[in-house]
Amino acid sequence: MKQSVGYEKNQVLTVEIIDITSEGEGIGKIDGFPFFVKDAVIGDQAQIRVTRVKKNYAYARLEKVLVPSPFRVDAKCMFHKQCGGCQIQAMDYGRQLAFKERKVRNNLIRIGGFAPEYIDRVMEPIVGMEEPFYYRNKAQYPIGVDKEGNPVAGFYAGRTHNIIANTDCCLGAAENKEILEVILSYMKEYHVPAYDETRGEGLIRHVLIRKGFTSGEIMVCLVINYTGRDGGRKVHGGIRKEAAKDIVKSAVKGVAKERVYLPSQEKLTQALAMIQGMTSVSVSINRDRTNVIMGKEIHTIWGKDVIRDTIHVRDVENDFADFGRGITFSISPLSFYQVNPVQTEKLYSLALAYAGLTGKETVWDLYCGIGTISLFLAEDARQVYGVELVAQAVEDARENAAENGICNAQFLVGKAEEVLPEKYGKEGIAADVIVVDPPRKGCDGVCLETMIRMAPERIVYVSCDSATLARDLRVLCDGGYEVKRCRAVDMFPMTVHTETCVLLSKLKST
Ligand code: SAH
Repeated sequence: MKQSVGYEKNQVLTVEIIDITSEGEGIGKIDGFPFFVKDAVIGDQAQIRVTRVKKNYAYARLEKVLVPSPFRVDAKCMFHKQCGGCQIQAMDYGRQLAFKERKVRNNLIRIGGFAPEYIDRVMEPIVGMEEPFYYRNKAQYPIGVDKEGNPVAGFYAGRTHNIIANTDCCLGAAENKEILEVILSYMKEYHVPAYDETRGEGLIRHVLIRKGFTSGEIMVCLVINYTGRDGGRKVHGGIRKEAAKDIVKSAVKGVAKERVYLPSQEKLTQALAMIQGMTSVSVSINRDRTNVIMGKEIHTIWGKDVIRDTIHVRDVENDFADFGRGITFSISPLSFYQVNPVQTEKLYSLALAYAGLTGKETVWDLYCGIGTISLFLAEDARQVYGVELVAQAVEDARENAAENGICNAQFLVGKAEEVLPEKYGKEGIAADVIVVDPPRKGCDGVCLETMIRMAPERIVYVSCDSATLARDLRVLCDGGYEVKRCRAVDMFPMTVHTETCVLLSKLKST
């Protein structure tokens, strides 16, 4: 490999961007020596400024696009470079899909050790979105102040905690902007202070907004630095006197049934209630000096405690047409729920199709979260067992099963690598099909080993990280399985992330 001899910081160079890293940075080479250039698009002729030189590569900043790539498009959001939420917004969506598909393919080949021809045979085209913007059903905005002291909502710039004001993220629901504007003007009018991280003072820290895309129901949760326990008499952290008095007044007037959490609380809830779809307004109490956004305690201050959303089963063989049945979920501010509902339907329908159920099977759904995939599977299986680490998620899963009238899904709390050997070894519960949907780090070795011992006919692997997917597929294939089908699903357009669904079949023993 070419060495970095001669290159130095601040040097200005011209390169052609010929490739892209898995994190979305453009790669340009000079005499074989690679430069990683954030915000450069594959195909760009670019003027770059070197920022850091390492032994075998260097980082550079994009100074100027000399000749734009045919894949370069005008980014929808003016903050896309600073924000970091989107890494590849300036890349044509078709090219984004090709990039993700290739990333999965490369990982399967390089990390999984599968032959390229084999992968090309089993891989199906990536499932993209028709409208790759405004797809997120959940947004969390930090609240702060601008230089003039006005309250602002936005995002943290780069790796800092400086808030750049932007209420109009083009990945989120269209209603977010209006909701944030209502909250900011309420804060201004009633002198409600934003939380100040450095001093640990002030009131409003974050705003969480969730929307049920099928129900149209909206939830707003304000994360606040105040417990409300003293009825407003001892207001913590720099709430101005008049605002504090207001809390006391509201409490005395009995406007709220029990506690009052915000100055002139009813003014805010009334204004929010005017927004179409508004279903739930709550506060989350977070008094800790931490980066964790949500506090554990949630109090509804207007409307219902939860919103609802339905995920429909779709026909993967027929352009994802709606089968006319779905599962309805109740979502609270703390519930885990997939953020892109349109693509979630496609991903789960794919997992269901790959599972090939006839109604007779015993199915395990490992890493089941709130039981989303489990409940999808239950309708076509004899019995489903879901396993999930987080106890609250399992409680949600049980409630969701009951609400949907599903009786053949049982949920177990614990680590998949502990619950599975226990249930299989001691109780002899078998599996015809096992579905896994682990976090980024993939499956635990013991979990994979137990799956192989249980010898289900089929394994469906849903993955949010194709590198660990490839590693785990190698283990399963060495243990007597073969990859039959594989398809990426673009759950996060404009970012470098992708989901992948894989079907493995047990090899017939000879
Ligand atoms: N299938 C679900 C959730 C997938 S996210 C859905 O689509 O909604 C992965 C889940 O695995 C998380 O809910 C996480 O809490 C859980 N988890 C993480 N490590 C685990 C482990 N060792 N055993 C079981 N579950 C685990």
